[in-house]
Amino acid sequence: METKIVAIDENNIDLNVINEAGSIIKNGGLVAFPTETVYGLGGDALNKESSKKIYDAKGRPSDNPLIVHIADLKDLEHIVSEIPETAVKLADAFWPGPLTMIFKKSPTVPKETTGGLDTVAVRMPSDKIAAAFIKASGGYVAAPSANLSGRPSPTLAKYVIEDMDGRVDMIIDGGASFVGLESTIVDLTEDTPVILRPGYITKEMLENALLTKVSYDKAIIDSDSKTPPKAPGMKYRHYAPKADLTIVEGDNTKVIEKINMLGREQLDAGKKVGVIATEETKDKYDKNFVVKSTGSGEDEANAAHFLFKILREFDDEETDVIFSESFDGEGVACATMNRLVKAAGHHILNV
Ligand code: AMP
Ligand code: MG
Repeated sequence: METKIVAIDENNIDLNVINEAGSIIKNGGLVAFPTETVYGLGGDALNKESSKKIYDAKGRPSDNPLIVHIADLKDLEHIVSEIPETAVKLADAFWPGPLTMIFKKSPTVPKETTGGLDTVAVRMPSDKIAAAFIKASGGYVAAPSANLSGRPSPTLAKYVIEDMDGRVDMIIDGGASFVGLESTIVDLTEDTPVILRPGYITKEMLENALLTKVSYDKAIIDSDSKTPPKAPGMKYRHYAPKADLTIVEGDNTKVIEKINMLGREQLDAGKKVGVIATEETKDKYDKNFVVKSTGSGEDEANAAHFLFKILREFDDEETDVIFSESFDGEGVACATMNRLVKAAGHHILNV
């Protein structure tokens, strides 16, 4: 398949290109597009053939449901059977934005889109290009992240091209994704709202908007939990870099000492060593390591923004072993750590 690659300036959106992308979706094709979280791989959410194509293009197991993206709140009632009061409050506080909510689905949504479930995940992105594209596509775009299954989610169009060229009809380049991690997912189908995947919108933000307690799905806080995660996608080892990744956690000085020691052992064994650090620590490592900075550790959002890009770069540079500092914080750092721990296959050293 020939993939058309186009760039769109979010401050001057070319409606000809948007309409062409919309027609592709309406005709059952696939378009990768930018959002504020990560790039999405879009198809018509109400067309089961389109959903099948998405799974094929990604190489994704078809029991892993897709998020339906809308651009207008009034479109929600068409695809869900019930809109709880909690959803109205959360939509008011966080939509458009990086929050996905799980609802009981209406019969309009094919089971191919929801991985066989009776529930549907819905999000309204804030990215202006995404919103225009969803409207031009008929209002309902099913989209997982636009990476091949198992690779880090793409935060730049060049990574979408790397994974999806020849597999989709069009790729829209809209620049770097603002957040850099996938949306927070919250399940509203039970009595207490439950976070199924942490993201930029934190537990505290949800609780402040709802004035009730919100809990985490057991499977995301307890890696030994026998309960399967409620978001089927969370059971897969996502975001796996090609290199062996180890997180070193503890007091800053000790972390740097430990990474220098372990890294030198790997260098002596002829390996290419990468380190994930911050602006404040990056100069404290052996000069023979490839050290990448996630920006200043003062702002939690920096590590979220750069993590997937750095993992991709280490892949491209054929790094053999990666050591990462851990990221502390109460906000989006929890989501960054969730992704990093998965990428490391739960390999964490405490010093
Ligand atoms: P991605 O599309 O790559 O951001 O992944 C979508 C995530 O949303 C996966 O972890 C899915 O398992 C999860 N998800 C989508 N729909 C549902 C649903 N109806 N119930 C629970 N989790 C869902
Ligand atoms: Mg994904």
